Amino acid sequence: MKATGNKKKTRPTEIKNSPEAHKEKLEELAVDGQIPKAVAYPTTNEEACNLLREADSTGKKVSIRGGGTKQRIGNSIEGLDLVISTHKLNQILEYEPADLTLCVQAGANLAQVQSELAKHGQFLPIASPLSANATVGGAIASNSSGPTRLQYGAARDWLIGVRFALADGTLAKGGGRVVKNVAGFDMMKLMIGSMGTLAMLLELNLKLLPLPKARATALIPFSAEHEACEAALRIIDKGIFPTAETVLDSKGAEALGLDARTILLIEVRNTTQAVERQMREIQQLVWQLSGAKVERINDEDSQSKLWSPVTDFAYRAAVNAPNTFVIKIGVVPTQVAMLIRQAHQSAKMNNIQVECMAHAGHGIMYVVGNYPEKEEESALKAIKEIIAKAESNSGSAIIEQAPPALKAQFKDIWGNALSRTELRLMREIKKKLDPNRTLNPGRFVNSI
Ligand SMILES: Cc1cc2nc3c(=O)[nH]c(=O)nc-3n(C[C@H](O)[C@H](O)[C@H](O)COP(=O)(O)OP(=O)(O)OC[C@H]3O[C@@H](n4cnc5c(N)ncnc54)[C@H](O)[C@@H]3O)c2cc1C
Repeated sequence: MKATGNKKKTRPTEIKNSPEAHKEKLEELAVDGQIPKAVAYPTTNEEACNLLREADSTGKKVSIRGGGTKQRIGNSIEGLDLVISTHKLNQILEYEPADLTLCVQAGANLAQVQSELAKHGQFLPIASPLSANATVGGAIASNSSGPTRLQYGAARDWLIGVRFALADGTLAKGGGRVVKNVAGFDMMKLMIGSMGTLAMLLELNLKLLPLPKARATALIPFSAEHEACEAALRIIDKGIFPTAETVLDSKGAEALGLDARTILLIEVRNTTQAVERQMREIQQLVWQLSGAKVERINDEDSQSKLWSPVTDFAYRAAVNAPNTFVIKIGVVPTQVAMLIRQAHQSAKMNNIQVECMAHAGHGIMYVVGNYPEKEEESALKAIKEIIAKAESNSGSAIIEQAPPALKAQFKDIWGNALSRTELRLMREIKKKLDPNRTLNPGRFVNSI
């Protein structure tokens, strides 16, 4: 169904999450091995505020949970008395197709929100990993993004308003329901990427986009990662502006069931004419650069099947195995090839295996490492080398996932990219908004 074009608001829509999800066992809600003493499923903002107020005034430590897909990110939690789940806060409260805006509760399932929007020919341009399980609130709290960040930016670019509960149970809001907001500090931005350490997000107001008219993907094999990264940059230099450009090293490609060789994936979204022109230009440029043959994929289903595991690369089931770690690196795009090389060198020197996936157009990359049992020392050395290389090149790197025992060997899994002043400011903000250290204590940067 197309956007209605009239001003009439759609009725609130309940997004049905999996019926089993609210029957989780406490062990399944553990945060880095710490099992909570209780779990609560508030059904209203007031209930959420009351739960927080009670926990805060009695010294309980709380972790907010959405779909649980990113629950492994963070330093060790200082204590865990209560998990507050957003599972029952899962409705679309207001959706105005003609205004391209949406107000949704934080626990709404991302994939199901997208399918509601698709009925009106629209979408929320946030490509969070594991969107079948992720919630909209979780995507905002972790400022999630995926391959399409190249064109659409991150979650922060689509939020226009937020309602949240502070640790002491105060209900507050930032921004509003219109794209233009002028009054007050932009407090809303503080909540984006705050990883459940400042407040419980309850309602999000988001901007939307019309679904693109056409979409095509180019799959291009290369003999080395630096050639694939070079081609990705030259395509942008030429004025072609793809939606996504992702390089998989041969191990990464193999892990996703593709041929075991370096692969550059390029997605273009636009009008049919513009997609045709851009794909033609990509084919010509790649031919000139390397003589590689571009495989073009047009049908929606095949493209989704290709991009979905790429988006989930660092979160797929195999990554949850023991003896596995994930480093997320952010560098300028021209440094990506060098960082992939460094990851391979460090892995080889320390006798471990790595797979790399890099969004070559915007500079975010993931290194997934596997190490033999009882070889934590080797993994530790390799991780330190890779992070040091990223940071010495003005980038940032975090250990996004690792077994708790390996994490414990790092002072801060969030890396060392922040200055003392930045850390001091963050500690002050935490102190102001959550003085009793109720929310996710210890998890964020510098054990905030
Ligand atoms: C009625 C109205 C409607 C408007 N509508 C729109 C609109 O639709 N779209 C739009 O884009 N704009 C709109 N504007 C303009 C916009 O709101 C601002 O006026 C404009 O963005 C200010 O830019 P400036 O560079 O002139 O800043 P200035 O007027 O020079 O500064 C603005 C404020 O920022 C402070 N400031 C300036 N530079 C710095 C700095 N480097 N560090 C810290 N503080 C700094 C100043 O002290 C001042 O308080 C509108 C303005 C009005 C009055």
